[in-house]
Amino acid sequence: MPNSSTKRTTSVFRAIRLQPLENLLSGLMGLIVACGIFLGSTYLDYATTPFYIALLLMSVNLLSINGVIAVLLLSMLALAAVFLNQGGFGHWESAVQFLRDLSLLAAIVVLALRSKRIADNLRHKEVYMSGAQRLSQTGCFGFCADLGKIGWSEQSAQIFEYPPSTPPTASMILARTHPEDVPEVLAGFEKAARHEAIIEVSHRLLMPDGRVKHLRMIATPLFNWGRRFEYLGALMDVTAIKQAEAALNQAQVQLAHVTRVTSLGELAASIAHEVNQPLAAITSSGEAGLNWLSRPVPDLFEARKAFERIIASSNRATETTLRVRSLSRKTDPLRRNESFNDIINETLLLVRHELAHHGIRPQIELTAFEVPISADRVQLQQVIINLIINACQAMDDVNASDRKLLIRSWVNDHEVGLEVADKGRGIPVHVLSKLFTPFFTTKETGLGMGLCICRSIIDSHQGRIWASSEEGQGSSFQFALPLLIPYGPGYASAI
Ligand code: ADP
Repeated sequence: MPNSSTKRTTSVFRAIRLQPLENLLSGLMGLIVACGIFLGSTYLDYATTPFYIALLLMSVNLLSINGVIAVLLLSMLALAAVFLNQGGFGHWESAVQFLRDLSLLAAIVVLALRSKRIADNLRHKEVYMSGAQRLSQTGCFGFCADLGKIGWSEQSAQIFEYPPSTPPTASMILARTHPEDVPEVLAGFEKAARHEAIIEVSHRLLMPDGRVKHLRMIATPLFNWGRRFEYLGALMDVTAIKQAEAALNQAQVQLAHVTRVTSLGELAASIAHEVNQPLAAITSSGEAGLNWLSRPVPDLFEARKAFERIIASSNRATETTLRVRSLSRKTDPLRRNESFNDIINETLLLVRHELAHHGIRPQIELTAFEVPISADRVQLQQVIINLIINACQAMDDVNASDRKLLIRSWVNDHEVGLEVADKGRGIPVHVLSKLFTPFFTTKETGLGMGLCICRSIIDSHQGRIWASSEEGQGSSFQFALPLLIPYGPGYASAI
């Protein structure tokens, strides 16, 4: 069964052929001309050469090159037959006339064939262009900014879903533009009015039946003729690409959520400890409070202090559960202005028991001042937790006294970064390049998605993440994010 693209290509080539009605009319005209020649040469005394010329011009449109040459030779033969019949070279004047007619016919055919070749080439090019536009879902248009005139290809009309015969206008374009994107399109028109060198607009169309299409448009001046400034533009329907991107994003968000919940599972013991500790403190403070109140003379001051300890411990437990909840919740990424050190400190609260469990006392070196960044807090916490858990696991085989972990934040001209460096087994050189590849793991129960997701999170923050290692000496993982305010003298007071 022919697929849609073959169907499209066939219809493109069908367009090259002449229409049947046109064929019929040309055939009829040919017949009339042939009759004219016959009558002219047999019964009436008028010149037949113009009829031959008409016949040849018609054959140029209808026949192949060989066919046209055949018609030319036949016409020349017919002329020669009439010429010989009427006395041939015996009459000087008719001989000149005969030779002149022959050369006229030959010259006309040469010129006509030449223009036929050019016209055929042009027609082919147009067919290829419109076919390519259809296949690539890209239309083209011309826009004369000064006269406000627009012209577009059939494909552009199809993208906007207007009949190709309707001449486009700015109001037709605006009528199809998604109301939220109208300002973008108007800004594009304004840029054209200012004769800007390149105009790019990405916007949506809202079709009458409620469908939304995503378009990407780019235009550049074609020529500048006196006061006429004309743009040539390409218009691409990127709806399918946008939908695929959205589906991919959604899949990435879901995958990130799954791995986040997996890391939370690895932290379960630490989290339980973080909650149990304040609960135990609540119990003991409650008992102490009761004791202070049950005395013959209740000590209200001490009882009050016990109640305050209960409230503080309960707040601590609540904070932990809130933190865990926000990490386990499935939410869409949300970028806000955050303090980088705050995010690190909050993450450290979640992993501190895990570190203790692995016998690791981390060396924490954070920048002395707050560094504001635009980030999704939960996503960054996920990255940091992943790097710390990996570092802890890498040091499992190392002597307890040698388990050292450095967690250091740094800032340079345009970036703020975090380094998590361990003194674990290190990473062999051939493994270093595979670390961020999906499903790469050297652990028996590893999933191999942690670092890959870290990279996609950092990429989506316009940052970078990398690893370095000396085998047997440990590894260092770092990521850097763009600063909201460029770093320089007086930075701390500026923020
Ligand atoms: P997983 O932890 O499930 O294996 P990751 O993507 O987090 O997935 O890590 C991929 C691999 O990178 C690990 O299996 C391990 O071989 C290596 N790796 C990551 N961090 C370290 C580290 N700090 N030291 C040594 N190897 C590491």
